[in-house]
Amino acid sequence: MDGKALGGLPHGKGEGDLRARQDIVAGMGVDITWIGKDPYPTETVKNNVENYIGTARVPIGLAGPLLIYGDHAKGEFYVPLATTEGSLVASYNRGMRVIRESGGCRAKVFEDHMQRAPVFRFTSLDEAERFTRWIRDRRELLEAAVTKTTSHGELSDVDVFNLGRNVYVRFGLRTGDAAGQNMVNLAVYQICRDIREAYPDWDKVESFNLASKFCSDKKHSQVNMLKSRGKKVSAEVEIPEEVLRGLLRTDARTVLDNFTSGTLSALYAGCVSNGFHAANGLAALFIACGNDPANVAESHADILDLRAAEGGLYFGVTLPSLIVGTVGGGTGLPTQRECLEILGCRGGGNARKFAEIAAATVLAGEISLVGAITSEEWVGAHERLGRNRPDEASG
Ligand code: NAP
Repeated sequence: MDGKALGGLPHGKGEGDLRARQDIVAGMGVDITWIGKDPYPTETVKNNVENYIGTARVPIGLAGPLLIYGDHAKGEFYVPLATTEGSLVASYNRGMRVIRESGGCRAKVFEDHMQRAPVFRFTSLDEAERFTRWIRDRRELLEAAVTKTTSHGELSDVDVFNLGRNVYVRFGLRTGDAAGQNMVNLAVYQICRDIREAYPDWDKVESFNLASKFCSDKKHSQVNMLKSRGKKVSAEVEIPEEVLRGLLRTDARTVLDNFTSGTLSALYAGCVSNGFHAANGLAALFIACGNDPANVAESHADILDLRAAEGGLYFGVTLPSLIVGTVGGGTGLPTQRECLEILGCRGGGNARKFAEIAAATVLAGEISLVGAITSEEWVGAHERLGRNRPDEASG
């Protein structure tokens, strides 16, 4: 064993520790043949998981081709989706066919920055106001702090929000091709240390916290919707009436009627968006491509814009807070890297291309689901493709 045993479980990162933990599970009488089979080398995952015992195998299906005329994603893409949800890949595949037969979709990244929002609490309202004025005038100091911790990160936004004695400063950084949460954490911590050095009245700071919930990390929030967290991306397509009828067995008028009723009910129910199921495609894409699936919390809130168009239907989607990267996090792991390669998105220079593919994938899923609902094929499709009654599944 090459690591320390704490609380009965060896916590080391070596191959010996991996086997020791597998033995503990085997000792419980649990067969982990599949979890333990051909694990990634411990060296490969050392910064991605603790107490490693093997890999969770999630089936990967391929959907596409998805035809995109984006600023960064141009051409046809086959999209790997890792999921255990039967009918998901079929549904996205169908939406991609609709997009293709409609001549392709357009896609654009409007915003691109990751945030961290520390809170500074002051001894009085006057002190909170004084600090607010001071920090708004310190752009150079803040930019210089960022360069101390990252060569790829760059300060983009400094938004100050006051709440009585509390000052929330939401720092935004452009993070190159990384999703950027770790990068921004480090940079904003440095910013805070430099503020502590430079602010003449630091003794009036009652408390300071690097991560207030204003970030809003791994949470949906209105501030993320308005100011964006990660990338704000839109994708759109005009679907001819004959494609709606031929592939989705519906028509523009029926889809628009469903969309209006759905948007009203989303408003009435207090939903965060009027989208259908962006979380499905995003979770599957994130898992396949080594992006943190927990960021579906911010990323999934999509806003749909459907209108009658000449001879068919305009179908647009905007994801205000899409968090994706093609370097860092889990993107360098073996199967995850291969999936990014399938998309032509492996490594530096590809994050915006990946974001446009993600938005176009969401668009495909929304189109397919509204078609399935309006043609009343939705329940039947799940019955055929997505049921695993226990006796069949345990087989
Ligand atoms: P990371 O793996 O921590 O860092 C990315 C690294 O890639 C940086 O060191 C950066 O260099 C380097 N890099 C090389 N080429 C790059 C390029 N072309 N563009 C950008 N960076 C490049 O990844 P991260 O994106 O900062 O953090 C994402 C991970 O943080 C995810 O796994 C996410 O789940 C996790 N996370 C963390 C927190 C948190 O609070 N810390 C919260 C949520 C999620 P330099 O910066 O040195 O220049």
